[in-house]
Amino acid sequence: QSKKNAVRRYTVYDPSLSQSTPELLSLENDLRLAAARGELELYYQPKVCAHSMDVQGAEALVRWRHPVMGMVNPAEFIPIAEETGLIVPIGRWVLRRACLQMVRWLRNGMDIPSVSVNVSVRQFQDPAFVVSVAQILEETGLSPSRLDLEITESVMSGDVTRAVAILHELKDLGVTLSMDDFGTGYSSLNYLKTFPIDTLKIDQTFVRDAARNPKDAAIVTTIVTLAQNLGFSVVAEGVETSDHAALLRDMGCHTFQGYWIAKPLPAAEFGGFWHERLVLKEPQKV
Ligand code: C2E
Ligand code: MG
Ligand code: MG
Ligand code: MG
Repeated sequence: QSKKNAVRRYTVYDPSLSQSTPELLSLENDLRLAAARGELELYYQPKVCAHSMDVQGAEALVRWRHPVMGMVNPAEFIPIAEETGLIVPIGRWVLRRACLQMVRWLRNGMDIPSVSVNVSVRQFQDPAFVVSVAQILEETGLSPSRLDLEITESVMSGDVTRAVAILHELKDLGVTLSMDDFGTGYSSLNYLKTFPIDTLKIDQTFVRDAARNPKDAAIVTTIVTLAQNLGFSVVAEGVETSDHAALLRDMGCHTFQGYWIAKPLPAAEFGGFWHERLVLKEPQKV
């Protein structure tokens, strides 16, 4: 019975998968059940102010604890989820989970400005996407301004007019929008002008190489200036060392995300990280 369902769904989702290797096929089948089996988990990576180190947000990053293979990286399973369409239900699970966690943090007095959730192109193009975001916000009671959606430039690879319309619908819900991995994709300055986004996230490859390659450094500086001139915030991803941090500060980038601050953390540890920052900052009360 379940095997029959699997085969049926398999053909509905993507016929080209018949070319997949047996390993990939079994990973796919496991992925179908992962959420229901409670194998998916969200980790949270802080975004902090470069000067005060105040937490400005948390990016939710999905993890898959496979019963046999152990931790599977998103880099390995997100592409499979996208090809098969499984990213739609998984993405919904991620969104709901991140919103619930944020509500919990806020209730516990942790005033984290926002939680960011990654949205892949396939999800973005799903006709029910905007409605599902609205529903999840309503159902969880999270204030829309506390939710940030990270999209990539690849949403511009299809119908740009439609993409812009969807972005406006999302903005109308009251959420904020970030352009992830900026500088690696289909960016056209013309699109950027018309996109109602709030933040550019400089891709980590530029950040990593800026310290030794003048061209990467020039790209980072240019993105920071571009963002400032267009009225976007700018976040540097992949800040791994104090050298990166110093350089980025000089370049005018004021929000950092990266291993130098913290790796993605399980929710409880993120809470610990947040409280530690608070204790460091507050003068001891007598
Ligand atoms: P991303 O959204 O660009 O996320 C940043 C990635 O860089 C994360 O990898 C993070 O762990 C890693 N990272 C953060 N700081 C550093 C650093 O200082 N150095 C280095 N080397 N890496 C750093 P992760 O968690 O493996 O996720 C990889 C990608 O998978 C994400 O890239 C995102 O595109 C995708 N992804 C993750 N979770 C989700 C999700 O829930 N939904 C969707 N659609 N995609 C997701
Ligand atoms: Mg991201
Ligand atoms: Mg990124
Ligand atoms: Mg990335």
